[in-house]
Amino acid sequence: MNIIVTVKQVPDTHEVKIDPKTGALIREGVPSIINPEDKNAIEEALRLKKSSDDGEVTVLSMGPLQAESTLREALSMGVDRAILVSDRAFAGADTLATSYTLSMAIKKIERYDLILCGSQTIDGETGQVGPQLAEWLDLPQATHAEEINIQGNLVTVKSNFDSVTRVMEMKTPALITVSNRINKPRYKHMNKVLRAYRDKAVVTWSKEDLKLNPIRIGLNGSPTWVRKTFVHSHSRDGIVVEKPAANCAEDILDFILEKALLKL
Ligand SMILES: Cc1cc2nc3c(=O)[nH]c(=O)nc-3n(C[C@H](O)[C@H](O)[C@H](O)COP(=O)(O)OP(=O)(O)OC[C@H]3O[C@@H](n4cnc5c(N)ncnc54)[C@H](O)[C@@H]3O)c2cc1C
Repeated sequence: MNIIVTVKQVPDTHEVKIDPKTGALIREGVPSIINPEDKNAIEEALRLKKSSDDGEVTVLSMGPLQAESTLREALSMGVDRAILVSDRAFAGADTLATSYTLSMAIKKIERYDLILCGSQTIDGETGQVGPQLAEWLDLPQATHAEEINIQGNLVTVKSNFDSVTRVMEMKTPALITVSNRINKPRYKHMNKVLRAYRDKAVVTWSKEDLKLNPIRIGLNGSPTWVRKTFVHSHSRDGIVVEKPAANCAEDILDFILEKALLKL
């Protein structure tokens, strides 16, 4: 079974700061990590490959050249191939231009049975790239997978939405976005990390390597425009009541009455 996993390099959001004057993300000094659900997707791809006894797992990312470190991390988890799609012409891409560019790279890879994506990233958080990718490639899709089973060319995907469980069956080739509840990504062994840097290559494709329509990439291919980015400011102070829950109600009622927020 040949599986492609899309992975995105994201800033570690616990440390993300926004410049209050420009509204731009401050990237300097912010560590980058592999999007957490993409690690779940890699783990699932490695499990499915093992159970099918043949094929390979390819990771694919679109991003700046620094995203190579993300792909090295994927190689150290045990994937077979890593491809970085990188070109200045892709800058400013929204989700549509991103998914188009990724779809053209996947067409170049050619041989695949399954495409796995994270359900969403921890920075953009749109959850649009996976479903859009399926549309560009005209593939059946299932989202938020918590369980994947494959019998021959039949894929069964189980997803949970609040109290509803959905089970879908599709034929390969297909695209699935995975939830972080699907598995626990493996720890990397030191020898695999060393091999990922020493013995394995990250292949880089630029726009010349893909048969792209220039009006579909980068800013030209992006119908979404970010009008403004801003940091929320809080005009009122909150109070924190640090007591067992059962004793809090009286304090909160006193506060409400004192501020005349409620009349009894
Ligand atoms: C107008 C506009 C301009 C932008 N300009 C830039 C820019 O110049 N530089 C920039 O870095 N970002 C830019 N972005 C953000 C960029 O479009 C999104 O980060 C990207 O499209 C992915 O969207 P998301 O993070 O919401 O992914 P989601 O849809 O939440 O991601 C779901 C899954 O899709 C896959 N995926 C998502 N993105 C990628 C990727 N790049 N490579 C491989 N797999 C991926 C992963 O498996 C991920 O888990 C811009 C956005 C807009 C709206």
